[in-house]
Amino acid sequence: MTVLYAELDGSLAGFYDHATGDITVDPRLPRVELDATVTHEGFHKLLGHGPCKRPVAAAREIRVENMTAEYYISFRALLEALTRCGSVKSMAKFLNVDEGLVYARFLSLTALEQTLLNVCGRACIGINTRKPSVTLAA
Ligand SMILES: [Zn+2]
Repeated sequence: MTVLYAELDGSLAGFYDHATGDITVDPRLPRVELDATVTHEGFHKLLGHGPCKRPVAAAREIRVENMTAEYYISFRALLEALTRCGSVKSMAKFLNVDEGLVYARFLSLTALEQTLLNVCGRACIGINTRKPSVTLAA
């Protein structure tokens, strides 16, 4: 995998060139973001993403960002960050990622992980994240 460095315009942190297979990133990015961008673009390459229309492109972005978040943030690390930190901002700092990746990890939670987080939320931290789905006899 070839990674090229070039100063990019506007909000573009990096991109994957499907024609050459090269990944280009902006070297001015902070190290943490630069690494995550290379990983994100690497997943585009791994999945063989080529040019596509907008709705498909958006779905691919979500999938690749979720893969990047899962790669960087294990469930155990997420749980630990959640019990130690009071905000997404401090979780990002604790996990050494940017805040967007923390949100992406929350969006990529499996049903089992969501259940575990709910249980831990109540038992470990004392927060109630969801109303009970069943009502016990009155
Ligand atoms: Zn992307």
